[in-house]
Amino acid sequence: MEILKKIPLNLDAKEIASKLHMQRTGDSDLTRTLLKIAQPLITPKAIYKVAYVDKKAEDAVFINGFRLQSRVLRKNLDNVGRVFPYVVTIGDGLEKSADAADDFLEKYYLDSIGNIALTKARNHLENHLKAKFAYSKMAFMAPGSLEDWPLTEQKLLFSMLDGVEEAISVRLSEYLLMFPRKSVSGVYFPTETTFYSCQLCPRKRCGGRKARYDEKLAQEYGIRGETS
Ligand code: SF4
Repeated sequence: MEILKKIPLNLDAKEIASKLHMQRTGDSDLTRTLLKIAQPLITPKAIYKVAYVDKKAEDAVFINGFRLQSRVLRKNLDNVGRVFPYVVTIGDGLEKSADAADDFLEKYYLDSIGNIALTKARNHLENHLKAKFAYSKMAFMAPGSLEDWPLTEQKLLFSMLDGVEEAISVRLSEYLLMFPRKSVSGVYFPTETTFYSCQLCPRKRCGGRKARYDEKLAQEYGIRGETS
């Protein structure tokens, strides 16, 4: 397993203010103040493993001996032999500070800064994988992002990455939640086309949407009307 313990994050006050729609007078000062609080509390780390596709069923794929039940993942791995199960976290410092904040808005902003930092940390992992394994394009899927790949399969992912807690202090609870909460997990794979689970997810209101829902594509994948 590979561990990335020193992930550099470039958190820019202007970018954060724009993502959080903070455009009123005084917002830029507030962003800078919150960023000053947040930055030392963010400790981004990642762990991943080089894993191999053993065999494929119609609606499942076997990776390193683990059967992952997802028609979409199976289709995405049609021509793929090597994949990268991963967990990324920014630690629990920022979420503790957000939990302790009395002011609702401050809580919200700190939490949102955490989400931005977590996305950047995952992007760092993606760039690391592209550079190290010479891929020009990669995509990822996460258990629970679509009904097609149930959240219960987090357990398999964590079994595949045995030792996550010791390595980067992320644990999976019996309710399948990761702690620290600002953690993400999934499987990265090389691809020739752009793929986001959001393209197959018709959920109407989602702040995390990365691509438009594509009903035709959902039909091609053999799923329709699924939400996470
Ligand atoms: S649209 Fe939202 S809920 Fe649906 S897959 Fe994307 S991030 Fe998840």
